[in-house]
Amino acid sequence: MSLSSRLLHFINAQRKPASTPILFCDFDGPIVDVSERYYRTYRLGLSALQTIYQTQHGKDLPIEPLTKKQFWQMKQTRVPDAEIAARSGLPDDAIEPFLQQVAQLVNHPHLLRWDTLQLDAAQAIQQIKQSGVRLVLVTLRQPEQVQAFLEAHSLSQHVDQIFGASDARAAHLNRVEQKVALLQQAIAAQQALGFATHNAWMVGDTEADVIAGQRAGIQTVALTCGIRSQARLTQLNPTKLTATLLQSVQLVLTGRVLQVA
Ligand SMILES: [Mg+2]
Repeated sequence: MSLSSRLLHFINAQRKPASTPILFCDFDGPIVDVSERYYRTYRLGLSALQTIYQTQHGKDLPIEPLTKKQFWQMKQTRVPDAEIAARSGLPDDAIEPFLQQVAQLVNHPHLLRWDTLQLDAAQAIQQIKQSGVRLVLVTLRQPEQVQAFLEAHSLSQHVDQIFGASDARAAHLNRVEQKVALLQQAIAAQQALGFATHNAWMVGDTEADVIAGQRAGIQTVALTCGIRSQARLTQLNPTKLTATLLQSVQLVLTGRVLQVA
C-alpha cells in the first residue's frame, strides 16, 4: 500500500511563526477509545461465522466468546487476531473467514458510533491550545472520519492539521512502516510551512507511533490508555510513558521540554 498525496488533509494550514512548539499526536488511543467498537466488531464477526457455518455444515460452531476484558487484554499484549479467534473456539478452517469478516465490519458506520472520546482528551486538547502549541494529528484513520468525530465533540477548531490514510483499512492494520512514512510527511509539511520540528514530540499508544517518532529523531510519549499494555510500550523505550494524553501534556508542558530552542 503506497502513500500518496491523497493522504494529506489540511486544516488551518497557515498559522504561527517558526517558534511555535509542535505536538504530533495519534488519534485512536490518545483521543478516541476504540475498545467498545473493536469488541463489538469481534462479537459480530463471531456471529457472522456461526451463521455461515450453520448454513454450510448444518451444525453450530463451538464458539465461546471472550469477555471484553479478556479480549482487550489480548489486544493490549498483541495477541494475533488469529489466535484470539482460536481461543474463542473457532476451528482452523473458520479463522481466515472470521478475520475477513472483522476487516469488513470494523469501519462500518454502525460500529464507528461506538467510538468514544477518552475521558480527559478534551481537557488535554484545550490545554495544548492554551499553551500556544501547534497540534498536528498523525493517524492511520481517514481524515474525513477524524474530522467528523472532532466536529461532533466540538474539538475541530483546536486541531491545526490532520494527516490521515486514504485506505479505511489502514487503522485496523496499524502498519508501522505506514505510520513512519506518514509522520515523515507531516514533519516535512510543517518545515515547508516554516515551523521548526527538532524539539517536537510524537504522542501515541502503539509501537507504530513510538517507532515513527524515534525514526524521525523526535521525542516520544507512549500512552497506556490505548491498545497496548504498559509492559509492551516500555519495551519500546519511549522518551516518556504516561497513562493519558492529559498527563502527557501536563508532563511535557510542565517540564518545558516542548519549547523550540
Ligand atoms: Mg493509536
